[in-house]
Amino acid sequence: MTIPIEQLLNLPNIRVLKVEISEREIRCDLESTLGYAICYRCGRKATKFFEHGETLMLRHLPICERKVMLYLHTRRYRCLNCEDRPTTTERGDWYDAQANCTKAFADFLLRQLVNSTLQDVADKHQVTYGCVRGLLTRQVSGEVDWREFSHLRQIGLDEISLLKGHKDFVTIVSTRNEQGEAAILAVLDGRKKETVVTFLESIPQTLRATIEEVCSDLYDGFINAAQEVLPQARVVGDRFHIAKLYRAALDDLRKSEMKELRKVLSKEELSGLKGVLWALRRKSEDLTTEEQQVLDLLFECSPSLRRAYALREKLTGIFDTRQPKEAAQAQLLNWIKEVERSGLDCFWKFINTLKERMDIITNYFVRRSNSGWIEGLNNKIKVIKRRCYGLSNTLNLFRRIWLDLNGKEAFAS
Ligand SMILES: [Zn+2]
Repeated sequence: MTIPIEQLLNLPNIRVLKVEISEREIRCDLESTLGYAICYRCGRKATKFFEHGETLMLRHLPICERKVMLYLHTRRYRCLNCEDRPTTTERGDWYDAQANCTKAFADFLLRQLVNSTLQDVADKHQVTYGCVRGLLTRQVSGEVDWREFSHLRQIGLDEISLLKGHKDFVTIVSTRNEQGEAAILAVLDGRKKETVVTFLESIPQTLRATIEEVCSDLYDGFINAAQEVLPQARVVGDRFHIAKLYRAALDDLRKSEMKELRKVLSKEELSGLKGVLWALRRKSEDLTTEEQQVLDLLFECSPSLRRAYALREKLTGIFDTRQPKEAAQAQLLNWIKEVERSGLDCFWKFINTLKERMDIITNYFVRRSNSGWIEGLNNKIKVIKRRCYGLSNTLNLFRRIWLDLNGKEAFAS
């Protein structure tokens, strides 16, 4: 049984004229069986054969690891509808003449680009860097397509710095679907309130009305932008960000306490405190026996760390507890009093934030919306940043995030 090569190539409206198979490459000469071109002037079918046009060299999907090169001999047709009888070259919708490859191969490259780099894909599949970059720019929009969404419900506002240690911030606007998966809505230059306002206002009115919650860190610019453009939505302080703030307070106290302890403790005593950093960062119920021992020793040397640790755990406990917003507020006010009585000053800054943003912080208790998707997306972006070093263009960053999230599905074979 012989399988016609057309069947293997799986392309519409083509006839194979010649096949040459070498050890590494399969070369096919083809022509289209369509028999017309679309007149570039009137948009109707131009059916009168005029002449043979250029031969397009198109890369196609490999067959048994052999590179497949197609040589498409195009034809030009004359339009009989237009008075001056213009001629147009035929076009198939199965190839991307600009990228010199078939759409199937283009989709294949874009799938390969998910979680990878332009250079890596170019190297592995023997195409130029420019070819892969061109595909990405043409096939993946740098901006959201609102038609992909029927409702938004929850959106997230977050900031990340593009270069480590730099003040080069971009704002990431995201949402999540019913499956809890994150989707990217925008990468905005900077983190100014005005920029966020402009973007939020660009969301189609009907879609904007579906936003019920805005998850944000406690940055004024984000909160004010959300309250201004989305008055119907509840602004919720992202629990992860809040935890980061009060956990940092304990970290600072650890640093200063350890500095003091290093002055007074012997080398031997100090060696018993190895691993305090990780032990302190863990939740008390997750501690191993060794970590608990380290902490016991540490707390013996530093009663203030013991108090601060207990207060931190208590605070996490409040957030972990399902309770009405008002009850949570009462608990948080109690917690503040407890901190004040403790004589500790490491939580002062956090307490100021807590008092100032009590409403937004405790909005979390209304629906206990999990903001894990924002954190998950953040981690994805961190990986992209590391992988695609020097990615500073917001459009391209959007493309890469979008591709990593949607590429496998969008460019499925
Ligand atoms: Zn015409």
